[in-house]
This record gives sequence, C-alpha cells and structure tokens, in this order.
Amino acid sequence: MKHLHSGKVRDLYETDDGLLLMVASDRISAFDHVLTPDIPDKGVILTQLSLWWFEQLADVVPNHVVSTDVPAEFAGRAVLCRKLRMVPVECVARGYLTGSGLIDYRREGVVSGVSLPAGLTDGSQLPEAIFTPSTKAPIGQHDQPMTYDQVVEEVGADVAERLRQITLDVYVRGAEIARERGIILADTKIELGWDADGGLVLGDEVLTPDSSRFWPLEEWQPGRPQPSFDKQFVRNWLTSPESGWDRSSDEPPPPLPDEIVERTRQRYVEAYERLTGRDFRG
Ligand code: ATP
Ligand code: MG
Repeated sequence: MKHLHSGKVRDLYETDDGLLLMVASDRISAFDHVLTPDIPDKGVILTQLSLWWFEQLADVVPNHVVSTDVPAEFAGRAVLCRKLRMVPVECVARGYLTGSGLIDYRREGVVSGVSLPAGLTDGSQLPEAIFTPSTKAPIGQHDQPMTYDQVVEEVGADVAERLRQITLDVYVRGAEIARERGIILADTKIELGWDADGGLVLGDEVLTPDSSRFWPLEEWQPGRPQPSFDKQFVRNWLTSPESGWDRSSDEPPPPLPDEIVERTRQRYVEAYERLTGRDFRG
C-alpha cells in the first residue's frame, strides 16, 4: 500500500487495486493543535459511527464505502473506499448559528450569502437549515465561506443545485435521527465526489463529531456557547488555569491528564451508543 496523506486525525493509503484505505487514528485535535495523549478507541468509534450513518443515508445519497475488510492492524478503524474525484467545495449545512457562521452573521447579517433574520444569538436555531459552502483551503489555511454564486462559478449551476440539495437532505435526515436520541445536530460538513460514471457520491466521513457539531439537547440554551458532545472536557481543561496553557502563545498545549482522557473517551462512547442504539463492544 502506498501512503498518500496524513491529516490531523486520519491517514490515507492507496491499495494495489486502486482503492483508498481511510484509517482513523485515536488522535484528537483542539484549537488547531493535535493533542497528546491519544483518546483510546476514538478511531474505532468514529469509523463505526460514520459507517452507521452511511447506512442511514443510503436512500439519500450513494457513498464511497466498498468494504470494512481491512488489514488486522487497522481492524475497526479503517474503511476501504472507491477513489472519487472530489468536488472542490466543502458542503456545509447549518441548522443552528454558532462558530464562523455566528461571526459572519454579527458582522453583516449574512452567512455564505444567505441573509438571516435579526435577533439571532449564539446557539439559535435557524428558521430552516441553510447551505453554507466553503472553499477547501490548502493545508495550514482556513476554509473561506463561499456564496452560492461562487459555487455555481466553480462547478456549474446543475451541480451546484445538487450539492445544495444533497447537503440539506443529509443534514435534515441526520438532525431528525439525532434529535430523537437527545442530540442536536447543529451543523455538519460533507464531502462529495464524482465516481467513474460521473455520479455524485458521498465520500470522506459523515456525521461524526469531527465533521459536525453535536450538542446535548437537554443542555441547549441559546445565548452562550453550547456544551459539545465530544471535546468539551478537553477545551474546558485547556482554557482553565489548571492547564497553565496560553492559547494565544505559539506553545503546544500540555498533555491531557488521565481523567480528561477518560471522560472524553466516555463522551465519544456515549455519543456512539445514543445515536446508534448499540453497545460499544457490547
Ligand atoms: P484535516 O481533516 O486534518 O484538517 P485533511 O482534510 O487534509 O486535514 P483528512 O480529512 O484526513 O485530512 O484527509 C482526507 C482526504 O481525503 C481529504 O482531502 C478528502 O477530501 C479526501 N477524500 C475523502 N474521501 C475520498 C474519496 N472517496 N476519494 C478521494 N479522496 C477522498
Ligand atoms: Mg478532512
């Protein structure tokens, strides 16, 4: 196998028969840093969650998964996929306002060219889910919001409309399923690509805590940052005096204490179990 790429969290290989092997490590990132130590089982949990979602979405959009029969060293944490020609747009849907969307809204009342009503705050639910695409930034740079017209310029009107529709359909289906299980899907990013026949196919990972914001429904309270389902303990600890870390410095964050690692692992397990209704290793 040929090593193609390593992101902050995943490693990508190409097999001899031209398939991609996407391996999710146990690495965790926060504030754009990869942290130490790893979160045990995180890669398996996120891979299994993504596979579960691909199945739930099978009637919404075809996906790139070929097989989970992978070399033993990657068991559970890797997927063999069809190689797609990726669409050069990060397809984001938002049902709630926060993060970069909130910053853009506060500046000009508009997110990726979509005007929103006045009076929204951090964590507000939007009147309806919106498509807020962004550029795929080269390594080390941040994705920039795109207007719908920019997407049309990039891929043409027909493809742009299909990207928008698929992204919103995935969001709406995902949000509905998550809500029944006590989780708000605030927003999500999907990646689509063209297969050999020119069809649009869902690639990458889908509806994981690394590609989406999950909020515990019972703690949702607009007007403040929402607790998140995955990295809340990590972020809280890193920004607390206990960690001794200055986020504005160039210093890498200190190693996470065992307790934070364990609670974070528990949180990922809980998200997986709540969503899928399965026992993790049960
Ligand atoms: P990070 O996510 O750490 O910010 P990254 O996006 O470069 O960085 P990964 O997400 O690990 O790192 O990389 C996965 C890469 O594989 C992405 O560029 C994604 O667009 C691409 N990809 C996902 N699925 C497919 C596929 N089926 N065919 C081709 N490329 C794919
Ligand atoms: Mg990525």
